[in-house]
Amino acid sequence: MYVQHSEIKANRKLLYVQLRYEIETVFILAAISSGMGRNLLMSNVDVGTGTGGGTTSPFFEKLVLEAGALKQVAPFFLEHGSRRLLLAADANTYEAAGRKLEQSMREAGLEPSLCLLEPAETGDVVADEAAIVQLLLAIEPGMTEALIAVGSGTIHDIVRFAGHKCGIPFISVPTAPSVDGFTSAGAPLTIRGMKTTVPAVSPTAIFADLDVLMRAPQRLVAAGFGDMLGKYTSLFDWKFSHLTGGEPYNEQAAEITERALASCVRHAREIGGRTQEGITALMTALIESGIAMLLFGQSHPASGAEHHLSHYWEMEYLRRGRRALLHGAKVGVACAEISRLYHDAAERGVFPGGEPEALRRHGELVRSWLADVPSEAAIRELLQLAGGPSSLAELGIGDGLFARSLREAHRIRPNRHTFLRALNEA
Ligand SMILES: [Zn+2]
Repeated sequence: MYVQHSEIKANRKLLYVQLRYEIETVFILAAISSGMGRNLLMSNVDVGTGTGGGTTSPFFEKLVLEAGALKQVAPFFLEHGSRRLLLAADANTYEAAGRKLEQSMREAGLEPSLCLLEPAETGDVVADEAAIVQLLLAIEPGMTEALIAVGSGTIHDIVRFAGHKCGIPFISVPTAPSVDGFTSAGAPLTIRGMKTTVPAVSPTAIFADLDVLMRAPQRLVAAGFGDMLGKYTSLFDWKFSHLTGGEPYNEQAAEITERALASCVRHAREIGGRTQEGITALMTALIESGIAMLLFGQSHPASGAEHHLSHYWEMEYLRRGRRALLHGAKVGVACAEISRLYHDAAERGVFPGGEPEALRRHGELVRSWLADVPSEAAIRELLQLAGGPSSLAELGIGDGLFARSLREAHRIRPNRHTFLRALNEA
């Protein structure tokens, strides 16, 4: 169900995908129509097995990735008969897309209100108690019919959580191709200074406007690319955890992620140059990666040891009250570091401790999977092509923190049998 360009070009293709989402079985009917170019329409029918407690399954009713997508938001709500809408943005994303969207909705006769989320002390909007309460106060019980997340992954997380708690659907209007979490069903929140992922909902519709995305700052574009490059090591770790820890595996979700990653790498130069082709390829890949996680129901396809390192650094920054680094910027550099560690261990016999039992038993297989993970140098080169940081020094991660994170990061997800965990526990 990945969004491949040849498929987008094909007129009216229908794909049926049966998937298991936690305790429910959901059928997704994906109807891809070319329309004016890249217009993807997906809808699904919840045919829950009846074992759940009345939770709603994640689905996209509409997915638009094209220039001028903002203009399609108002007709979408008119079609659904929803008028009272609450738009959540921060000062930057309001300027990037929010103001224009609000205006077009008013002109269409809708009644949008605005919640301009306040930044935390560090200067960024953070998905914490303060931001969540600010949004909850702006929601009018029994009146607000839908929420609109305009902006970053963080704004999406605040909105997906508040919407979920209030039983109000939300739609996604990303303002930068910076992360693959726009479509996610879980919300990583910072509660009492601790990062915790809370169940929430995925958007009912996504309107990704290329005119907006192409004006996104380079560092955000490079971060999205870094988040995608991280799939090299997450896909490897997923296979390894399936083999050695019996963790569930899904070929289809793996294949979607692999193809999204390959497309991103093929377009690295265009992404760095922020051409329309590059931004389209990147945003498509980020959405596909999100869909792979929704299909699988867990984050395995898109998150392995490189994400655990990134989370470790993030928590340390939170503890120190430092301004957060971009998620994808950390993931990209962490992917290069993990690649070095893994190749050193499996191919050169360099271990942080002893040789893991799993490597003794499955060395050949592990090395064959590792052949798909580019060298540290190749990953850094790709990061540079996209115009993002490629080293710990550029990120500002010191040697002490890095060494500690390499030893301890696997404990962030103690139930994941990554190769990093095997190396640290050997
Ligand atoms: Zn990520």
